[in-house]
Amino acid sequence: MADAGNKRAKKRFLDFLSRKKLRVTLQRKVIIDTAFSTHQHFTADQLFAWSRRRDKSVSRATIYRTLPLLTESGLVREMDFGKDYKFYDPNYADHPHHNHIICQDCEKIVEFDSEKIEKLENEISRRLGFSVKAHRLQITASCEELKRLGACKKKSDKIPQS
Ligand SMILES: [Zn+2]
Ligand SMILES: [Zn+2]
Repeated sequence: MADAGNKRAKKRFLDFLSRKKLRVTLQRKVIIDTAFSTHQHFTADQLFAWSRRRDKSVSRATIYRTLPLLTESGLVREMDFGKDYKFYDPNYADHPHHNHIICQDCEKIVEFDSEKIEKLENEISRRLGFSVKAHRLQITASCEELKRLGACKKKSDKIPQS
């Protein structure tokens, strides 16, 4: 369900589109509604599948034209976990400093904040004569299930079906 944070981010994105004089077509509206109604990290394929659930007229081409706008606006961030596909994170508008841990098998993604890590990053940067502008911490790991069973039962539906 969309919450207040989603709604703020969506409004900022619509403002961004109107500043760029871009029309909000019906397809694009469905994609925007979909992207800003979740806190999950999604792939292009997943956004396509979710959007199609709302409206069958949404095409893959419109997904691929809309994603760069979402990232350009700064409200959705593209993330690379070293897979063949990127993930998109809609949570940066509200939580600009969060980090990620991802299961290497089922691709479950969990977010976390850590003041300790931020302090450490500042310390290291200062020591090297830099000051931190942005940071990105991603941990690839084994989830409980992977540790226990050697494989995760529920594979991510982020993997392209075709
Ligand atoms: Zn995130
Ligand atoms: Zn797993």
